[in-house]
Amino acid sequence: MEAVKEPSSPQEAILYFADPKNCHDYVVSRRWPNGVECPSCGCKDVVFLANQNRWQCRNKHSRRQFSLKTGTIYEDSPLGLDKWLVATWLVVNCKNGVSSCEIHRALNITQKTAWFMDHRIRVSFGMESPDKLTGHVEADETFIGQKARNMHRFRSRPEDHWYGRQR
Ligand SMILES: [Zn+2]
Repeated sequence: MEAVKEPSSPQEAILYFADPKNCHDYVVSRRWPNGVECPSCGCKDVVFLANQNRWQCRNKHSRRQFSLKTGTIYEDSPLGLDKWLVATWLVVNCKNGVSSCEIHRALNITQKTAWFMDHRIRVSFGMESPDKLTGHVEADETFIGQKARNMHRFRSRPEDHWYGRQR
């Protein structure tokens, strides 16, 4: 599969993920670098149903149809994949940290929704939420240590964290 472009700035990420085809290619290339697999049985014998934007596994079992969201941290969310991908990109790529306020402004969603997205993304990546800093001043060292360890783990095996596997 050809390499899929990685946005290089928040503005670029917003524009890039506004195109459903880009969202599709981006997730497929990262989630299934060796070809699309059924999240239920792991088989690669799947058919893409273009009109439903879903795949169907050829094996006989329940939950044969799956989408880009199936089996990911985005699965049960009514929010579009485009918004989730922008928020995830911001949380993961903004080195100085991104606040839920920034997500809220970038995506034009409520602050409460932005906080929820931010929280879920951080949990899936094993990142501490900045909210935990308040009231835990004495645990500063623990927080930093924990975060550093998790960031290291994330860098070493990004495929384990992108989609918060729920198999
Ligand atoms: Zn299957």
